[in-house]
Amino acid sequence: QEKLSNRINAMATSQTLAMAAKARELKAEGKDIIGLSLGEPDFNTPDFIKDAAIQAINDNYNSYTPVDGYVELKDAIISKFKRDNDLTYDRSQIVVSTGAKQSLANVAMVVLNPGDEVLLPCPYWVSYAEIVKLAEGVPVEVPTSVETNFKITPEQLEASITPKTKMIWYSSPCNPSGMVYSKEELRALADVLKKYPDIVVVSDEIYEHINFVGDHASMAQFEDMYDRTVTVNGVSKAFAMTGWRIGYIGAPAYIARACNKMQGQITSGANCIAQRAVITALEAPVSKISHMIDTFKSRRKLIIDHLNEIDGFVTTEPQGAFYVFPNISAFFGKTIDDTKIENASDFSMLLLEKANVATVTGEAFGNPDCIRISYAASESQIEEAIKRIKEVLS
Ligand code: PLP
Repeated sequence: QEKLSNRINAMATSQTLAMAAKARELKAEGKDIIGLSLGEPDFNTPDFIKDAAIQAINDNYNSYTPVDGYVELKDAIISKFKRDNDLTYDRSQIVVSTGAKQSLANVAMVVLNPGDEVLLPCPYWVSYAEIVKLAEGVPVEVPTSVETNFKITPEQLEASITPKTKMIWYSSPCNPSGMVYSKEELRALADVLKKYPDIVVVSDEIYEHINFVGDHASMAQFEDMYDRTVTVNGVSKAFAMTGWRIGYIGAPAYIARACNKMQGQITSGANCIAQRAVITALEAPVSKISHMIDTFKSRRKLIIDHLNEIDGFVTTEPQGAFYVFPNISAFFGKTIDDTKIENASDFSMLLLEKANVATVTGEAFGNPDCIRISYAASESQIEEAIKRIKEVLS
């Protein structure tokens, strides 16, 4: 569209949202679609958080908030970082935003100059590459595979670094692969980064609580990484609050200040009612949300057991988040139900059109051999989806 900017013309549409839109379209036509494409918990926001929002409305929280968030919310975030991550931040290092997505966009806009390279271990969350491009940075994919449990090695990291490398972005637990970096693995990556002190690390920890292997490790916990790591988090996933749109960073003060400045010209800060509710969410003990984590854990077992029964699916056991990312390249070159499968997009489309199951192609995440299946769905939906997939593939 030549009337629009190069900036927007160069941007890809979010494929997870596009898949959800396509699934909605088919549903509207009367098809019984099972949606396993979205990264959204299928729980209601817990009542104690909803009550806090209602209270905030009645208490007349209706004015502009401080651009970087209410002081009480920043303090709740500081306590959360201390309690859960053993990270010490002060108020000047915290910025509250309209979702972790905005937190990430802020960081890209304030850190990157045109041509700066950002390392993205693959598979990465769909929006990373597009946000980096919007900020005129250059996404540099660092490939991994199902064989290495989708983790990059220190050697790979080192080989990807150039004089133009400005940042590395990753999520752990990872969307879409579900892998979780252990403290030792992060330390090994930090040992490489130590040699390149100008590289800023963005550690996206939004799935922190949805972790089935135990300890969550943060890059900023290492003293030598603290001053150049931006820790991104939010309430969308663990608290089932996707639509409330609150995310936040703990960062070196110079980056937090810059994000505050950016946000001051773009949004004037996040929604006031949602911010009040998030104070209550973060002050609550983690046990208040553990029922959701336990449910994800049993669904994970269910879906993995079933996927392992399907010939051609190579699936690692995800350690966190609520996705599986099977390698389905064994189907490439085959014709299934009159449909020729050349790549993961064809396969994902086959599942949508012939099995009425919505998934997302791995191409969206920089890994063209895989598809992402979200198990943020009920056990009966998962069972039914697998049954339909098996039928189509047989
Ligand atoms: N980071 C990752 C890895 C995600 O998967 C998501 C949501 O899908 C986000 C960030 C954005 O979360 P928010 O809803 O807080 O913008």
